[in-house]
Amino acid sequence: MNTTQTELDHTIELYQQHVMTTYGRARVEFERGEGAYLWDSEGRRYLDFLVGIGVNGVGHCHPAVVEAIQKQAARLIHTSNLYYIAQQAEVAEILCRQAGMDKVFLCNSGTEANEAAIKICRKRGRAMRPDKTVLIVAEGSFHGRSYGALSLTAQEKYQTPFAPLVPDVRIVPWNDPQALWDAVDDRACGIFLEPIQGEMGVRPASVEFLQSARQAADEHAALLVFDEIQTGCGRTGDYFAYQGYGVIPDIISIAKAMGGGVPIGACAARGEAAEILQPGDHGTTYGGGPLACSAAAAALRVIENEDLPGNARRMGATFREGLEALRSKFGHLEVRGRGLMLAMVLAKPVAKDVAGLALEDGLIINAIGADVLRFLPPLIITQEHITEALQKLNRALESVA
Ligand SMILES: *Cc1c(COP(=O)(O)O)cnc(C)c1O
Repeated sequence: MNTTQTELDHTIELYQQHVMTTYGRARVEFERGEGAYLWDSEGRRYLDFLVGIGVNGVGHCHPAVVEAIQKQAARLIHTSNLYYIAQQAEVAEILCRQAGMDKVFLCNSGTEANEAAIKICRKRGRAMRPDKTVLIVAEGSFHGRSYGALSLTAQEKYQTPFAPLVPDVRIVPWNDPQALWDAVDDRACGIFLEPIQGEMGVRPASVEFLQSARQAADEHAALLVFDEIQTGCGRTGDYFAYQGYGVIPDIISIAKAMGGGVPIGACAARGEAAEILQPGDHGTTYGGGPLACSAAAAALRVIENEDLPGNARRMGATFREGLEALRSKFGHLEVRGRGLMLAMVLAKPVAKDVAGLALEDGLIINAIGADVLRFLPPLIITQEHITEALQKLNRALESVA
């Protein structure tokens, strides 16, 4: 056993003693990252097609993000929302412009972005009539782990141990426009949907499903909220996935890639929805602080300036073609997703084995459920990265065939 292995063993021992076991972790510790690559504590290199669950969209340690963090950290780290913060205003302007929204509330995570959206829907609804409190969500959704966001996460494994949840949540079947239409009435204050369900295995919504949600929201004076935490910031080939669908929501929640790796989230709203929260209604100590916003402003400018949505579209099409070839070669079932948010549905429940073999071979991919492989490469990838990933994936699929 070499020194670094002993160090990793020591870390694992400390985890066993002192870190709550909320995650099953792979036996790897990454030490350094650059672009599409990570290096572990033994110096082995990995091509990263998961990027921290979609967070490092601009790649690992993008120089613009690193420089922004270094400069800001040396000047000012935190002041609080009792004062103006120039970097927060800058992030708000970029997000509103790209998202077609009017105003944002900045927070620290995706879950918190959804909490803000829930509170906007409920406050507005109750002001219209006291029982206008119902939130509509889709089966298989994932919106986060706090009580509000968890209550909108219609998956038993997440909800059951923690019941009772926040009341007045109605679950509709995924991609059934008629069922959605039927479930919405005048008691609905908000409809929450992911344009592509990420944690459920990359299941894209149909255009008809999102259109039905828009019409139902209009018909019953509810707000339409798109959770773009995973699909946003260029991932699907548009800056926000809703733009590719042509269905415009009232609110979107944003997080993951917007901070270039630093924790930050945003709830963006337009029109009436942007004016609901007033002083005292909602808040956060850290949200929108100078350090996180410097990183986010840098990451968002990179996404614009390097046209990463365009690259996601182009590289997504190439990667998808390669995945299709592997799918048919090995008799797997389906390739689905948009841009660089893609998944392969396997014919056998071997996704964890494939992801494990790929990791040993220096490729990071994600098994989401027993039979789905999820791919979230950085949006800066090139043809060479795709070729390397497909070669490694081919080897892993061969080993389990
Ligand atoms: C990751 C994710 C969340 C939760 O975001 P956190 O930053 O982990 O709180 C919510 N919704 C979707 C669609 C996500 O992908």
